[in-house]
Amino acid sequence: MKVTILSHTPEPEKVVAAAARLCYSKISATRLMDNFSSEKAASFIKKLMNMGHMSPTEHVSFTFAIDGVSRTLLAQITRHRIGSYSVQSLRYNNPFDKEISQQNDNEELTANNMSYLEGFSLCNNLLVNNNSTHQSQIEKYHIKGRLPENIAKLHKPSYVRGIFDGAGKLSDNPEFAVVFPLELESVLTATHFNITQRDDEILIKSEDTLNFTRYIYDDLDFAGYFYDEDKLLALCDKSHKLKEDIVLMLQDSVNAEYYAMIPESISREPKAILTYIKGLAACKRCYIDLVKMGIDQEDARYILPHGTQTRIVMTMNVRSLYNFFNLRCCQRAQTEIRQLANLMLAEVKELAPSLFENAGAPCEELGYCPEGEFGCGKYPASK
Ligand SMILES: Cc1cc2nc3c(=O)[nH]c(=O)nc-3n(C[C@H](O)[C@H](O)[C@H](O)COP(=O)(O)OP(=O)(O)OC[C@H]3O[C@@H](n4cnc5c(N)ncnc54)[C@H](O)[C@@H]3O)c2cc1C
Repeated sequence: MKVTILSHTPEPEKVVAAAARLCYSKISATRLMDNFSSEKAASFIKKLMNMGHMSPTEHVSFTFAIDGVSRTLLAQITRHRIGSYSVQSLRYNNPFDKEISQQNDNEELTANNMSYLEGFSLCNNLLVNNNSTHQSQIEKYHIKGRLPENIAKLHKPSYVRGIFDGAGKLSDNPEFAVVFPLELESVLTATHFNITQRDDEILIKSEDTLNFTRYIYDDLDFAGYFYDEDKLLALCDKSHKLKEDIVLMLQDSVNAEYYAMIPESISREPKAILTYIKGLAACKRCYIDLVKMGIDQEDARYILPHGTQTRIVMTMNVRSLYNFFNLRCCQRAQTEIRQLANLMLAEVKELAPSLFENAGAPCEELGYCPEGEFGCGKYPASK
């Protein structure tokens, strides 16, 4: 989420002060503007606000560029009627035009998944496993469990991921995080990881697990490529740092693959993000299929989720901004719009501190929470 002030009424504080002063003066607002120093304007505005004389603040407005917000937020923000909006349209912008225009959109997916299956099958062959996972794909693609040097279009990270899912284990030994059977020595020696042999095992040092994890999962489409979800989640349980890193990779995937926002409560937990990604992927697939069969974007977009990103230009005058901050900076407001309101408030406070001195959640000014029993607990429920 990014907020930028595109433009605003020049000298906002002086304009409000002059407009308000005019009510009690015999001279023109032009001369009043000239007479106001910044300090005098600030102290006059303070009086005005304390009196609740708010209409002069309507003469000043701010225009914001708001990027990287969800269409859920769009539905909420446009309920604020005393404002003007321009919104990036899904009628004219197709978030997945690259995928739609690609002739062979399955080529990369197939090379990646075939490399994975070769690594996975190699483990089955070497360890004489009867693991039937992926059996139908293994037959479909004539997978033999080849060594990397014998694979024409090898995608090495996927191959190593196949080996990890086929035979890798997580160790309880704090020094070593990932363990492979000795049979995979030649394949693992060819990787750049810090490996050690002990008894009948090949071990990857704990300090190198982060690199290993990034290598096998980085840039992955978590809904399209093969990987063992339980193993990914087990890695998250291994250490806080690993979990943090995997969460970042998953969040990047939501942004890059699905042009979607991810709510904060979902964005913290890998399992929740993976569930979210599966939903996004299903919507994206249907959208692409509909557009490819000739359905107009304006109709195909019905299948896209509320989490889809958008961009907004919004203009509001100061009085309406007060109302907006009052409602949306409150802890009771939904997280994404609250974050946006707080970012906007910080921006306008920089430009016009005295105008926005009392803006924000009502409790901050009142010293108690007008939400009563629904309050967040930051302030008492009554005076
Ligand atoms: C925590 C929270 C939960 C919410 N939950 C819901 C929900 O469940 N369902 C739902 O539909 N909405 C919900 N809303 C949206 C809410 O009802 C308002 O529509 C939204 O906050 C815009 O506020 P507003 O009308 O004050 O803003 P604006 O439309 O910008 O209006 C500003 C002010 O102008 C005046 N005004 C504007 N239009 C009129 C009018 N026609 N008549 C008289 N006075 C007018 C009012 O004083 C108003 O406060 C929620 C909002 C919040 C903050």
